[in-house]
Amino acid sequence: MTEQVADARIPTPRGGQGEPTLASLDPRDDTVLAEYPVAGKGEVAAAVDRARAAAHWWDVQGFRGRRQWLLEFKSVIASRAGELAAVVSAETGKPADDALLEVMLAVEHLDWAAKHAQKVLRRRTVPSGLVSANQASSVGYRPLGVVGVIGPWNYPVYTPMGSIAYALAAGNAVVFKPSELTPGVGVWLADAWQAMAPMQPVLQTVVGRGETGTALCRAGVDKIAFTGSTATAKKVMAVCAETLTPMVAECGGKDAMLVDADADIDAAADFAAFGGLGNGGQTCAGVERVYVAEPVYQRFLDAVAERAAALRPGGGPTASYGPMTMGRQVQIVRDHVRDALAGGARAVVGGLDSVHERYVDPVVLAEVPEDSTAMTEETFGPTLAVNKVVDLDEGVRRANASRYGLGASVFTADKDRGRAVAERLHAGAVTINSVLGFAGVPALPFGGVGDSGFGRIHGADGLREFSTVKSVTVQRFPAPLNLLTMTRKPRDMKVSAWMLKTRHGRR
Ligand code: NDP
Repeated sequence: MTEQVADARIPTPRGGQGEPTLASLDPRDDTVLAEYPVAGKGEVAAAVDRARAAAHWWDVQGFRGRRQWLLEFKSVIASRAGELAAVVSAETGKPADDALLEVMLAVEHLDWAAKHAQKVLRRRTVPSGLVSANQASSVGYRPLGVVGVIGPWNYPVYTPMGSIAYALAAGNAVVFKPSELTPGVGVWLADAWQAMAPMQPVLQTVVGRGETGTALCRAGVDKIAFTGSTATAKKVMAVCAETLTPMVAECGGKDAMLVDADADIDAAADFAAFGGLGNGGQTCAGVERVYVAEPVYQRFLDAVAERAAALRPGGGPTASYGPMTMGRQVQIVRDHVRDALAGGARAVVGGLDSVHERYVDPVVLAEVPEDSTAMTEETFGPTLAVNKVVDLDEGVRRANASRYGLGASVFTADKDRGRAVAERLHAGAVTINSVLGFAGVPALPFGGVGDSGFGRIHGADGLREFSTVKSVTVQRFPAPLNLLTMTRKPRDMKVSAWMLKTRHGRR
């Protein structure tokens, strides 16, 4: 049992369950930034009703019309990026540049989704096959209708936009429930849409806590796009099961980085520091575990320690990273560090004393027991666990021992070996010789396996995720062998039986 250290930030003055408003706080000092009315069941249902009507209008716009609207929306966001980044920075505490980069990435995805929806989703013909040669066959993708998006706080623009942009481009209306920690970002996005298309609430935001998310799941939406923790995904899935509402679940990770003996160690150490400690480690596909081949282990550890020790968290614009956005997470980070040290891990940079009330200084741990929580559970703080392995094979085995499987990275001079290792890693996305390389490529689908979730956002698969498939056949001429009749001819059956044997019976 680990000692519970009182966290002065809990409870926060946000207003509890059932209260009519939600205060958005700056996690750097708990300044109240704004108060938002909480959407209860009735308000959520009304938003979904409005979305249903807007979805019809949106569908009628067709691919071309939606493309124009979405590109217009993109320019609105891009031209006011500084303003949006300021809201992100205030609500998460992250430095302004990090917030701006997040907005930039979100805009890239919106641009890609807008420009590729038609190509990916338009009706396409498929071969009908010999038996049905008299049919003309095609596959089309139709919008689902209304998609409910439930988002987290760590990248409050980039992450939900990974669902919102693709759902909109696929022809759906969206009702977005942002995290209770970042309501202002959600409200900003919906307001920006409303200013552009006041009569058509294709994108709306409902503010609230978990209950508002539950109400959205129960409001008759056609799909839920959830991003958040695995534990909450299970609750959301249970609620969705009541109405057979489908969902896509983008959950947490425990991403591994593998460093081979021939890797560029300085580059790998740079990326490890960025991927593990950037944004205070509050990145779903951030680096949490590093497995380094024995010949370069010490060199890597020294290089990463040097980089980590130079980082300075804080609330100012030049800080390396900001505070822990969610006060509760501080105790989890503390518990993981303590558990690792109790199991025999070595603190190379920082240690338990690095975990302060709001800010966590960088922590680099070495020789961390594989069964400690620092290796088995998502830490979501600025910590790196670096362990020695004999070679990449052992690295793969250890990486795959996790129940999570979101992202992973491999560092090696031999890119073919890197690609082969990528195929063997249980992860939704792998990057070779960088970290998070996939996050900025809109054409690449993103999502995890195991406890990291299911379904995909981004890319063509992300567009299809928010569509329903419709198959159509058109009979071009009567079939020479008419088998779809109650008055089948013995001759047609005889020929069919012969064809079956001839075409498929031989090896
Ligand atoms: P949570 O699971 O706590 O919350 C996610 C969202 O679900 C929030 O909007 C939350 O609202 C809402 N919610 C909470 N309870 C319910 C409920 N019972 N029914 C419906 N909705 C509910 O995650 P965090 O916000 O703390 O985000 C951090 C997590 O997100 C990490 O695990 C991280 O790895 C993961 N993540 C995954 C990404 C991916 O793409 N795979 C990307 C980014 C983050 P409220 O905030 O009001 O409680």
